[in-house]
Amino acid sequence: MRVTTITVYQVDLPLNEGRYSWADGKYVDVFDSTVVAIATDNGITGFGEVCPLGPFYLPAYGPGARTGIAELAPQLIGQDPTEIGNINRFMDAALLGHPYVKSAIDMACWDVLGKETGKPLCSLFGGRCGEEVALYRAISQRPAAEMADNVRGYRDQGYRKFQLKVGGDANDDIERIRAAADVLQAGEVLVADANTGWLAPDAIRVANAVADLDVYIEQPCGTYEKCLAVRERTALPFILDENIDGLEMLLRAHHDRAMDVINLKISKVGGLSKALQIRDLCVSLGIPMTIEDSWGGDIVTAAIAHLAHSTPPSLRFSATDFNSYVTVSIAAGAPQRQNGAMRASTAPGLGVDPRSEVLGTPLAVYSG
Ligand code: MG
Repeated sequence: MRVTTITVYQVDLPLNEGRYSWADGKYVDVFDSTVVAIATDNGITGFGEVCPLGPFYLPAYGPGARTGIAELAPQLIGQDPTEIGNINRFMDAALLGHPYVKSAIDMACWDVLGKETGKPLCSLFGGRCGEEVALYRAISQRPAAEMADNVRGYRDQGYRKFQLKVGGDANDDIERIRAAADVLQAGEVLVADANTGWLAPDAIRVANAVADLDVYIEQPCGTYEKCLAVRERTALPFILDENIDGLEMLLRAHHDRAMDVINLKISKVGGLSKALQIRDLCVSLGIPMTIEDSWGGDIVTAAIAHLAHSTPPSLRFSATDFNSYVTVSIAAGAPQRQNGAMRASTAPGLGVDPRSEVLGTPLAVYSG
């Protein structure tokens, strides 16, 4: 099988809540998503999506994804998309770094392989584990009382796991965590995610001030070393996200006992292939994971569902249904949340059918 055409689309994804806010006053109103379609000479087309969380969350941004794809796509014409190891080695040799650029291409190749073999990706990723995948809800940064109200509201929609966006003023964040903890019910999970927004002394102050609560602290500071310094001074369970950007960092952090849980984002590590490598290593090492991406619509949500649903439930801390945060559906067949959980499709590949009227006119078409 050979790649004949790679088509690139850009889609705006506005938010149901109007605005998503997190650490350091950062926010996004409309997400800039890129969809890639890889067509082959046997009639199969695979789809992938990459959607950075604005230009200032990770070293990634929407136009950057498309510029990188423009670099790689012409070189991929004629290659076999089902030889995904070769495709990834080729991309890594052709473009150093820029892992997020490769994510949508890798995802589309997996979709082709699933369609070619007639299997859903979660079967190719090791097999379906359990009935469904429990989801967390990110609680956008707002004043404390509003965030507590939003925890209640999203509980009514079925969520039992809540990730508070903190990383602002330390005193305000202590209030936010306490207000949310006050409305928590038995069995629910609360995470305070600073998204790198705290200085180490503030992070230590917050962790000390909420030490009596049942709460996880996630990615308090920007650098790994600062996070480790905070980790060593709190007994609260600890999650690393932004710093775990590949296998090397996972191994280092595991060796240092730097975290109890990681947050595995597909595009942050360069695509489903590399996320699988990390996922499988975490399963072997007994490290629980939140499985998600930086952001996305229906195609990213489907990819998350397959990766998460093929992960043993005991090591699946949570996952995300990004398609329920946004007002636009870019594909039919994507997982739909029910009672705070989702299921991977049983259809071949990702199991999604992109809506051409929503994708609109391609930004670019690459062919031989
Ligand atoms: Mg996080």
